[in-house]
Amino acid sequence: MSNKILELAEKLKSKIYFDYNIGKHTWFRTGGNAKIFALIENNSELEIILNEIKNENFYVLGSGSNLLIRDKGYDGTVIKLGKSFSAIKITEDSLEVGASALDVNLSNFAYKNKIKDFEFFSGIPGSIGGAIKMNAGCFGGETKDNIRSIEIYNSHYEKKTILKKDIEFSYRSSNIKQNEIISKAIFNYNYGDTDLIKQKIKNIKNKRLSTQPIQKRTSGSTFKNPPNLFAAKLIEESGCKGLTYGNAYVSDKHANFLMNNGKANANDIENLGKIIIDKVYGKFNIKLEWEIKIIGE
Ligand SMILES: Cc1cc2nc3c(=O)[nH]c(=O)nc-3n(C[C@H](O)[C@H](O)[C@H](O)COP(=O)(O)OP(=O)(O)OC[C@H]3O[C@@H](n4cnc5c(N)ncnc54)[C@H](O)[C@@H]3O)c2cc1C
Repeated sequence: MSNKILELAEKLKSKIYFDYNIGKHTWFRTGGNAKIFALIENNSELEIILNEIKNENFYVLGSGSNLLIRDKGYDGTVIKLGKSFSAIKITEDSLEVGASALDVNLSNFAYKNKIKDFEFFSGIPGSIGGAIKMNAGCFGGETKDNIRSIEIYNSHYEKKTILKKDIEFSYRSSNIKQNEIISKAIFNYNYGDTDLIKQKIKNIKNKRLSTQPIQKRTSGSTFKNPPNLFAAKLIEESGCKGLTYGNAYVSDKHANFLMNNGKANANDIENLGKIIIDKVYGKFNIKLEWEIKIIGE
């Protein structure tokens, strides 16, 4: 570890921690320590820190709702954008949203300002940075739909604006690279009927409550839906509903949700996932693809 990082930890407003338990920042609540964890205060400190760690591994963490960190931890720096990256601003023709703003806050903001088509964000428990990277979506909406442009720190750690036409979005994925940090998103918007917006949000909430084990230690859908198929259905029909490995289990409410019963480690969750992949392949000759991101040793 460079002495410079130790010096920076003293000098900067950003919080820098060493040998830090990063798992507590994920929804699974599993996984080992990160060599360095940096909670970034503002753009200029982000630049300073990126310059310092540029030849080392780093990983950007959003809300950790789609992330499994392996038990031996992450041998590099985990970067999380702090509160000053969470502002949501409305201009005459756009919504400017900081990457650490929560999706649900954007949905509420849009509702309060009579803006439609952001209702689906109320169903996704992540941050806007994570939503863009994953092209998160549900109930007919996807993050890409209203994006106009994003602001990123690219692989040379320069701040750039990228227009939507230059980003490749696909199902639960984008071509934003692992060493690119999204700091802000600009969305187009349209006004709608407040009652309809409110009703849509209510429907999403009810649907989720009845079909998903939310507010639990899970990362939501573990595997991507194969084209024209539902991963949950394939998993269920392969006899995996209720399956366990160590202290991880398959939700009996939604078979694509892997759960930590409170004592699971990352190995339990990953191995349970691998068993499911094998079973589904054995039954349907279809190889499920992980939707969640898995990092570390
Ligand atoms: C109960 C539950 C329900 C869910 N339901 C849905 C659903 O309906 N639809 C859906 O699409 N997803 C769903 N998810 C998954 C998850 O919420 C989304 O993928 C979400 O967009 C992840 O955002 P995050 O901020 O938590 O990202 P993280 O999990 O922290 O990270 C995910 C990826 O995004 C990258 N990333 C995060 N922030 C940035 C940034 N600022 N710059 C660059 N890269 C970044 C990370 O490096 C990582 O590769 C669900 C999860 C849970 C726990």
